[in-house]
Amino acid sequence: GLGNRLETVTDSPGTPAVRLRPEILATAPYRQGKPAPAEAYKLSSNENPFPPIPAVVEAIAAMSVNRYPDAAATLLSERLAERFGVSRGEVHVGSGSVSILAQFIQAAAGPGDEVLYSWRSFEAYPGLVTVAGATSIRIPNLPDHRHDLAAMAAAVTDRTRVAIVCTPNNPTGSIVTAEEFAAFMAAVPGDLLVLLDEAYVEFVTDPAAVNGRDVLGRYPNLVVLRTFSKAYGLAGLRVGYAIGPERILDAARATAIPLSVTEPAQRAALAALDHEEELLERVAVLAARRDDVFEAVRAQGWPVPRSQANFLWFATGADTEAANDIFLAHGIVGRVLLPEGIRISIGEAESVEKLLAASAEVVEKLP
Ligand code: PMP
Repeated sequence: GLGNRLETVTDSPGTPAVRLRPEILATAPYRQGKPAPAEAYKLSSNENPFPPIPAVVEAIAAMSVNRYPDAAATLLSERLAERFGVSRGEVHVGSGSVSILAQFIQAAAGPGDEVLYSWRSFEAYPGLVTVAGATSIRIPNLPDHRHDLAAMAAAVTDRTRVAIVCTPNNPTGSIVTAEEFAAFMAAVPGDLLVLLDEAYVEFVTDPAAVNGRDVLGRYPNLVVLRTFSKAYGLAGLRVGYAIGPERILDAARATAIPLSVTEPAQRAALAALDHEEELLERVAVLAARRDDVFEAVRAQGWPVPRSQANFLWFATGADTEAANDIFLAHGIVGRVLLPEGIRISIGEAESVEKLLAASAEVVEKLP
């Protein structure tokens, strides 16, 4: 009967009852960090530990959700254009920067095309490339966990359609310097779309680091991606943006799912920009906490790479599961990224003591 047939359709795993793209069947869904037990700290998603400011809560509460949002995110785009000294057409708002990444990859790369990025980097990149039907080309990071931009430039072929540069890099926290970036842009073809993923740029304190703001308008093939999820603490609302040449952004706009940036998200982002100074003070607190934890972990003897983001990278390799058990026992929930290691976000002040107790035990117990 029909009941049986429905059961067959929803049965999983196994062969689905309909024909699906084989590369999609072989792709696992994006895996989020698990929720932390009540007494533990959830440091698995690089979230901002501060609660929302009252202006953000008010902006969300004031919304009439029976109406559709403004599809063009006009007010927010205008506001961002003003902030960066560009025209409104040179700004594109999306439901998180991950959506905008997907839009650009789909706009530029299809079957037979290559998308180039360093590895390890943001765990969403491979899936986005697969969904577009394109091929990922991963360039291993250098032994010090920094991007190997020279190798990346050398790997460009006539099939390469997108190169993603993530700085600070998730999960290692390493930055690309302004000098390295300029050399990279000079080395790659001028018609190759370069995406500068700056999800964590507000946490950067190293003056040598490249900053998209300083290179806007310099390269006709460069798009800078940013987000309200991290420094601005709006991860749950899903709002990010791209800045770049209008004709390139038009291609992302053309692939975008209409109306996916909600009105509460747009209003909250505007409220966050109204109170940017206060939010960036919080960012400075988190960056200082990051540096303190970095120094402490180094002093314990663990070679954590210098991070310019709101997380640290423990390259625990073959001992990752054992190290994670130690972190969990101390109430620290990080993100296990096999086979390389564990990424731990800089969270609440009270989490630091537990994190350092755990890392001390990791250093002591692991070979
Ligand atoms: N880029 C990088 C490097 C990230 O780490 C993240 C979030 N984990 C994103 C983009 C996406 O952030 P969002 O979609 O929340 O803007």
